[in-house]
Amino acid sequence: MELSIVIPMYNEEETVDGLVEALAAILPQLPSPHEVLFVNDGSRDATEQKLLAAKATHPWIRVVNLRRNCGQHIATYAGFDHSEGRYVVTLDGDLQNDPADIPKIIEQLEAGYDVVCGWRMNRQDPFLSRRVPSLVVNWVIRRDSPHPIHDSGCFLRGYTREAVQELSQYSNMRSWFPVLFAKLGFRVTEVEVRHHARPGDEMSRHGNMTRIHQFVSILIGATDNPFLYVVLTGMGATLLGGVALIVGFLIALITGHPQAWYWTLGAGVLGLWGAVVFLVGVVGEYAARVHQEMGRTPRYIVRDIK
Ligand code: UDP
Ligand code: MG
Repeated sequence: MELSIVIPMYNEEETVDGLVEALAAILPQLPSPHEVLFVNDGSRDATEQKLLAAKATHPWIRVVNLRRNCGQHIATYAGFDHSEGRYVVTLDGDLQNDPADIPKIIEQLEAGYDVVCGWRMNRQDPFLSRRVPSLVVNWVIRRDSPHPIHDSGCFLRGYTREAVQELSQYSNMRSWFPVLFAKLGFRVTEVEVRHHARPGDEMSRHGNMTRIHQFVSILIGATDNPFLYVVLTGMGATLLGGVALIVGFLIALITGHPQAWYWTLGAGVLGLWGAVVFLVGVVGEYAARVHQEMGRTPRYIVRDIK
């Protein structure tokens, strides 16, 4: 099998037909033999029936039904575990990603990259609730990656079989991120892709809580740097508070001015606050290490031994 396309599907009955049509149009240009794995993530609508109906005329379709709704990423892991292709491409099943961009992804895989990320041009999502959080996440994790990419949230991506196998071994959410791959020595690149508004009912299949969870897990999952900022903030405040405390104390003693005692008190509070923040940062660093161990994320991968 040369290529597997993995698509998580949760209550997508409205887009199945359009999606299958778009895939059928592009597949002749893609490496063959190929398969498209639709992972039905516990849909409660007619997604499964529609997929099975499409399978009757398109033999490249495979439907992996999960027993219940497990979330987009877990559904995708299920797809990885059941895929056979030398290359694996993932995309959203709601037609926000355009199957017509898959050839660009394959081109880069052929060029020798292990992970190819889509970079959404003209992103069609709400500004405040979606694009602003993305800006923050992308900014923080770009700082910590050997091959920085612009768009960590685009699901249209390509992987080599080797990269996919690595992914499915690590159990924590960080495993998603191109940053991790770059740190492990995989070659990561990005290509510009289109992004469309969600057709049909336009309702995202992710609730607000899931969204916050995603935001936090990308932020702390891809990099330990946020804790570094916390530690630095704490150290800065302690230092500033300490110096101000001494200066205030001396001025208060010499001048005896009551204002100077308030100043000293304020400086003491700042110093204490800084110490607490510093400790939180240190504890966060420990937690990050435990997180790394628990996720079985390796620190290195041997390519070959000659
Ligand atoms: N999805 C899934 N399980 C879920 C939620 C979403 O498989 O619990 C799928 C959904 O069917 C779609 C993709 O994940 O194919 C992206 O979901 P959505 O479009 O709702 O996310 P957004 O584009 O709003 O980030
Ligand atoms: Mg979507």
